[in-house]
Amino acid sequence: MRLTLCLSVLVLCVARLCFAQDSAAAPAANATHIMVVRARALIDGTSAQPEQNREIVIRGDRIADVYAAGTRPPPAGAEVFDLGSATILPGLIDCHTHIFLQGEVPAAGGYDVQLLKFPASYRAARAVVAARRALEQGFTTIRDVETEGAGYGDVGIKQAINEGYIPGPRMFVATRAISTTGGYNLEGYAPEIVVPKGAQLIDGPVEARKAAREQLDNGADWIKVYMTHRSWVDEQGALVSQPTLTVEELRAIVDETHGWRKKVACHAYNGIGLQRALDGGCDSIEHGLELTDAQIAQMVKQGTWLVPTLAVYYHDQEPPDTPGGVRDRKRVVVHGVSFQKAVRAGVKIAFGTDVGGFPWSEPIAQEFPRMIEFGMTPMQAIQAASARGAELLGKRGELGTVAPGAYADLIAVAGDPLADISVLKNVAFVMKNGSVFSSTLRPAGN
Ligand SMILES: [Zn+2]
Repeated sequence: MRLTLCLSVLVLCVARLCFAQDSAAAPAANATHIMVVRARALIDGTSAQPEQNREIVIRGDRIADVYAAGTRPPPAGAEVFDLGSATILPGLIDCHTHIFLQGEVPAAGGYDVQLLKFPASYRAARAVVAARRALEQGFTTIRDVETEGAGYGDVGIKQAINEGYIPGPRMFVATRAISTTGGYNLEGYAPEIVVPKGAQLIDGPVEARKAAREQLDNGADWIKVYMTHRSWVDEQGALVSQPTLTVEELRAIVDETHGWRKKVACHAYNGIGLQRALDGGCDSIEHGLELTDAQIAQMVKQGTWLVPTLAVYYHDQEPPDTPGGVRDRKRVVVHGVSFQKAVRAGVKIAFGTDVGGFPWSEPIAQEFPRMIEFGMTPMQAIQAASARGAELLGKRGELGTVAPGAYADLIAVAGDPLADISVLKNVAFVMKNGSVFSSTLRPAGN
């Protein structure tokens, strides 16, 4: 508990400064600086087809113009980046990350060690590394959906990024997350021992609303709610997940959060908890392992987003002959089917990985091939990680697109991601806010 408190106090001091700041308002490149980025192909995040041989003019932190290469002289004084045969895409968006989580590898102590033995300063230091890892892999925006017991640490990391002290993506942060008694880790300890919890636990609509108010007051851009917790396979072989908040508790949170013009992300696997998430007005369903046809129809009707996080469930599966192992294998089976049905039905889907649930040393882009395996086209998967992600974040036209007026967040990869999606694992050029963060492509020109 001491560790959580320490960090909370520290970050509380800076939270208020940060609150008024727009998540998209990272420090701008010099407003008079003009750049031209040119490449063989452009996938702009919204168009159905790539465009060939484009030039993108960047003024300060924004995209000023996009046109066919060679049809206009570059603006006077422009710095030209010719990326040759590369493909340019918008900076990618991961709508489900945990920079304060460093994998849950059992041999490394799993989840619990991070809350019980890692000092707050160590967790913050590793979160800084995680943020840089996201940016260097081309994820220029993340929605980080809770700190797993590290209090309001995400608010401070976001502020340090926005002020230019450390490199990292634009962050939309969810702070502590909300669940109920019996609804979150740590668990399995002697009842006499008080252990820290990875989320703020509430019981009843009054406590639910109060928790949302506290989190919003301290800088949450989103509220994250856990609507299911434990899961197992029952005697009939069906996946069951324990519901947590009641509809009344969730409605109090959603009502409060929407009043602040913010949104609510709900972790929900299936069954009763997922139904309550939909009935209570969640804006995005996280994971959605097993959606019924009726629930898919309800999501389409209500405009509820799905952030599937397919790849993470292939990590750290327990041995196959154990109840946990049976559960782990069942999860990936139902998840693929559910995702496929959601894609076909036209549910709004944004890319999310749960990275942090698997180590930050692994490629975030491993989610793309899973999305394609279960029914998306490569272009749909890329758009889920660009324009659609931006839409979920309320930043349509500003993020996730290469078009005039958008923030100059660009990446480039060698080759064609529509032919081989795995090239997104090797991002060769990253620009955020009109500043080049990294480039292994040799720029040509003046
Ligand atoms: Zn998660």
